[in-house]
Amino acid sequence: MDFAINNCRIVSPDGTTEGNIGIKGETIATVSNSPISAENEIDAQGKHVMPGAIDAHCHVGWPDWPIDEAYRKDSEAAAMGGITTIIDRVTLPPGSLVDQIFGKGNRRDILEANTHVDVALQACILTNEHIEEIPALAKKGIVGMKFYIPYKGTEAVPPMVGIDDGIVYMGFKKIAECGLPVHAQIHAENIEIFYKFKEKFLAEGKEVFWADTRPNFCEIEPMYRCGYFAKITGCPVYVVHMTVKEGPDVIREIRGQGVNIIVETCPQYLVGTTENLDRVLSKVNPPIRTKEDNEGIWEGIRNGIVTNMGSDHAPCATTHKEEFWSAVVGMAGIETMLPIMLSEGVNKGRISFEKLVEIISYNNAKQFALLPRKGIICPGADADLLIVDLDKTVTVKAENLHHISDFTPFEGWEVKGWPTLTMVRGSVVMQDGQMVGEAGYGKYVPCGEAY
Ligand SMILES: [Zn+2]
Repeated sequence: MDFAINNCRIVSPDGTTEGNIGIKGETIATVSNSPISAENEIDAQGKHVMPGAIDAHCHVGWPDWPIDEAYRKDSEAAAMGGITTIIDRVTLPPGSLVDQIFGKGNRRDILEANTHVDVALQACILTNEHIEEIPALAKKGIVGMKFYIPYKGTEAVPPMVGIDDGIVYMGFKKIAECGLPVHAQIHAENIEIFYKFKEKFLAEGKEVFWADTRPNFCEIEPMYRCGYFAKITGCPVYVVHMTVKEGPDVIREIRGQGVNIIVETCPQYLVGTTENLDRVLSKVNPPIRTKEDNEGIWEGIRNGIVTNMGSDHAPCATTHKEEFWSAVVGMAGIETMLPIMLSEGVNKGRISFEKLVEIISYNNAKQFALLPRKGIICPGADADLLIVDLDKTVTVKAENLHHISDFTPFEGWEVKGWPTLTMVRGSVVMQDGQMVGEAGYGKYVPCGEAY
């Protein structure tokens, strides 16, 4: 064995067991009851060991960072926060996605030259040409096809160009022809209603919260609309970042019609409210809402409707957010995703550690067809592992985080539960809060058969 992590409490969706993990090269060779001897041995001292977290929702480079620097910094932040695979949603302008991603010197090459952790990709579908490329993208390992339903008109931040229901319907048809694991991802918000609220609030000159401009029903309506398109096309749908308390019931209803529809959420929609986060800095889509909405989403996780988790890391800096109406949407979250979930979820008893591993590691690997290489601790899997100290308490400060943005929405929060070691494919990349890996170690990970 090249590496052994002994004396572990191994957490998997099925339960927690004591064990020892032997690693050969980049993969797990054995999981055993007795301690393993190896060239390099680490004593986990009875701490929890889990499969590396997978961030299913990340926008590296958003909104205007140089992409090489963005991969370097945000993958370092990922490693510090226990994320071993980033699933990056690349948003590129009209034009061939295959060329813009896989052409020489383009996105794939840039990420491989700069990332500390592994990266899989998802694509944003904006045009007819993009729709035609869906099968080719799937062959290259991209299975998640994102539809940014609300970004049109003055809300379409470049390089996005608005899409309409025609693109959604035709895209869904093409995805259905490909079959799983290719699936549609929808950002469910109705922007036309937002514009009317915006007009009204501007005319009244009233200070409002972002959530006032896009009430819960604005998020619910496109779930039904896309659920209907999914029903008539047979397209599997993944709803990204659910925020509304009514959401789990809506999804149950749509599933009742035989639609394959699943749900992701993010830590900020479980713990953030208009009262505890900054009104301008935390301007994101969909918006930060209320404690009741938070509770509805926690319940959705516990009852198995909300099954996946991402950070929606969209690392705007304070300079992108000088004024409420013009502020660019998005905030950093990649480094704090797992710690917030350990602190507010596991340590506060809202969900079990096993449930967290299920939604943050296993289910994300499953949805993006990375199983059994990622998201699981078993012989043959990539040695993507974390040692977690559930008692380690840190007061979150932007100056101590590693992401490219200059702020965190959770400034000053006391967070209990942090990874103390991150291993990617058999190499330690973070130990005791120090980066030990090299930029460029991480690889592009194709999803699906291409893996
Ligand atoms: Zn997003």
